[in-house]
Amino acid sequence: MAPHKKIALLGSTGSIGTQTLDIIAEYPDLFSVEVLIAGSNVDLLIQQAIKHKPKYAIIANENLFSQLRDALAPLGINVATGKKAICDAMALDSIDVVVTAAVGYSGLEPTISAIKAGKRIALANKETLVVAGELITSLLKDSASTIIPVDSEHSAIYQCLVGEDPKSIKKLIITASGGPFRNKTLKEIEQVTVADALKHPNWSMGAKITIDSATMLNKAFEIIEARWLFNIDADKIEAIVHPQSIIHSMVEFVDNSVKAQLGLPDMHLPIRYALGDATRLTTTAPALTLADYATLTFEKPNTEKFPCLNLAYEALKSKGNTACIINAANEIAVAAFLKQQISFLDIYKIIEKSIANIPFIKSPTFEDYVNTNTETRAYAESIIK
Ligand code: NDP
Ligand code: MG
Repeated sequence: MAPHKKIALLGSTGSIGTQTLDIIAEYPDLFSVEVLIAGSNVDLLIQQAIKHKPKYAIIANENLFSQLRDALAPLGINVATGKKAICDAMALDSIDVVVTAAVGYSGLEPTISAIKAGKRIALANKETLVVAGELITSLLKDSASTIIPVDSEHSAIYQCLVGEDPKSIKKLIITASGGPFRNKTLKEIEQVTVADALKHPNWSMGAKITIDSATMLNKAFEIIEARWLFNIDADKIEAIVHPQSIIHSMVEFVDNSVKAQLGLPDMHLPIRYALGDATRLTTTAPALTLADYATLTFEKPNTEKFPCLNLAYEALKSKGNTACIINAANEIAVAAFLKQQISFLDIYKIIEKSIANIPFIKSPTFEDYVNTNTETRAYAESIIK
């Protein structure tokens, strides 16, 4: 195992962020926190900084800066706020690993900054690859930076591919829990509430990804994420519903052999693997007891009930800024659903309308992505009103 690593944690106050801090605390000889970055939860950020003693603590929301400064500057912690400070922190010489655990589009620019600085990235923020997978892939080609996935499915695939020739891959099989509405009829799904949608059967996650799991757009995003991470054509990536979430994903090879990675549905596992630089760190955390899971089942996803799943193939076929439009429309729609301004099925309708109405750009530049994101959000807001 490599020497001690200093970590910059983007999105420290969220579900993945707090679990990343658990792993850092589990291996004090291997990891320490150099930079903590949060969006708006200044109280938790202050608590985390007092405990983990980073060199820098940054809050994205500028209105909360004075509170952060008053609490942490007297302790000798450097404090900052705003997008530029976040992007600069991703590129600090003292950082060995960046963990991108911010939610949504907000992860894009900091991730680009980390890539340009040649950092090793443990990537949880899948939206970065959804929004701008092609751009990110080309930036990685010109950089010493590498990405290890934190998303459990992609961590599973990464683990299945160790020692394999990429040319021998026949397909990637991404497992999906099916979300809380797997057994509901379309009529019943029409009526679901925010509380119903937030009850994920297997995983405890942030609100946005939990809603994405209920619509299955999360699985569409993961297909797009896999396309870019593993450089595989969309027609070689499929999703299969596996309600127990024990098999985290599989790879089928040209000789028809299928490899799978299993474990409890606990994000500490893929975070531990990514921070450990794709090595196996010994742990005393609860392990999988297969006898507790007498049956592991599989079924085809139902795209009539969950049309969002098809958006992955639509986006990967049309390319350009389509996935960026889908992501931006979804972020606005999910926020509106959480505020009970729209119904669950409206989320898909808002995404479809946005794809139809926002101008298609075949070969987007970085600025095009920024503009597409801004325009789509404004458009989605306007149709919600
Ligand atoms: P949460 O909603 O729990 O946390 C999001 C984090 O992002 C918070 O720390 C939040 O800060 C921070 N944040 C929000 N806006 C900004 C901003 N503008 N700049 C910097 N930080 C910001 O999300 P999750 O932890 O669930 O998910 C994080 C990412 O990981 C997502 O991309 C998700 O798809 C992915 N992921 C999550 C999994 C999970 O199990 N949770 C599994 C696989 C992938 P604050 O709270 O202080 O406002
Ligand atoms: Mg996942």
